Amino acid sequence: MKIDKAIPYGTQDITQQDIDAVIAVLHSKFLTQGPLVKEFEEKFAAYVGSSYAVAVTNGTAALHLSAMALGVNADSKVITTPITFSASANCIRYCGGEVVFADIDPETALLDINNVRAILEEHPKGTFSGIIPVDFAGYPVDMAAFRALADEHGLWILEDSCHAPGAYFTDKNNTKHFCGDGSLADLAIFSFHPVKHIATGEGGMITTNSEAQYKKLLKYRSHGMVYQGNSDLIENHGGWYMEMQELGYNYRLSDINAALGVSQLSRAQLGLQRRHEIAKRYDTAFAGTAIKTIPVKENVYHGLHLYIIQVENRKGLYDYLRANNIFAQVHYVPVHLMPYYQSLGSKKGDMPVAEKYYDHCLSIPMYPTLTDDEQVYVIEKILNFYN
Ligand SMILES: *Cc1c(COP(=O)(O)O)cnc(C)c1O
Repeated sequence: MKIDKAIPYGTQDITQQDIDAVIAVLHSKFLTQGPLVKEFEEKFAAYVGSSYAVAVTNGTAALHLSAMALGVNADSKVITTPITFSASANCIRYCGGEVVFADIDPETALLDINNVRAILEEHPKGTFSGIIPVDFAGYPVDMAAFRALADEHGLWILEDSCHAPGAYFTDKNNTKHFCGDGSLADLAIFSFHPVKHIATGEGGMITTNSEAQYKKLLKYRSHGMVYQGNSDLIENHGGWYMEMQELGYNYRLSDINAALGVSQLSRAQLGLQRRHEIAKRYDTAFAGTAIKTIPVKENVYHGLHLYIIQVENRKGLYDYLRANNIFAQVHYVPVHLMPYYQSLGSKKGDMPVAEKYYDHCLSIPMYPTLTDDEQVYVIEKILNFYN
């Protein structure tokens, strides 16, 4: 079979409905934050099952504001995984805190709770302030277990759910916990970068069930200001009056982006179903071959942002796929090995499981508009390489 266009590992799906929704905003009164941001927040909160959602400019801003709301400062030490996008760790540095990496579970590639527990127990209580687990590739973290551990040590949890809108796990009592539903983690964040499930250009969201955190986040999102109509105003000089109560930022999302988000969100469930079809075909094709895939536990509904294989001669396969117009990607270069984190004291050998995982992992094409023919072509090329 011949494929004449490049096949990426992930990409957005923009329909005429999306385009019309964006154009309608350009004809409206609001270009910056307006009614569509509110609608996007309400619909997104309903989608993941949280009480509140706060839209922001991107996932990184969502992490930054979350770290602020959780009180991260120069005295904070926060534990996270090295197998994530750097921003999951960087948000701690934005607030002056220290990032402590814990290794991953070799089965799931998620933050290893046993390693986290060991680190906590090696230090006096009160050393750490929080944990940032990541629903890496779309695999929901066992947040019930992390919540129990966090409570034992008085820690908060910020869940990086960028890969997992719509994913969930079922706990021992048969209760479903959607990623970012606010039931177990204190705050969760999402990104709407085009490679993620829902694209808004740039965009991000913070979800929580805490009203107090929700109010803080609204304030931090817009300069630390409180506006007319808000009962939290300390003084009120008249209709013009607004009050900057704390140091905040301008991390507001525009209605242009939010309109795209609302439209995309209406198809998110379908996209997730399609991702599951694609994963099933990969699973079947690679079963019994040298290509290892990540097994998914029975109680888990995977978000499938990424489909990751683990192989020998990963670079050889990567280059071969590229020569055949398939643009696979590696997720991720371990964050603790980034020169910036090495300059803060991390080094090779610190996270042996993550480093070994990094040597073998490859994300192959996974997105709803990948056609059956394209997928067959991808599978054929991968199997060819090893034959
Ligand atoms: C994409 C991503 C982010 C950052 O999101 P942006 O919207 O690109 O700022 C953070 N964490 C993870 C795990 C991501 O995949």
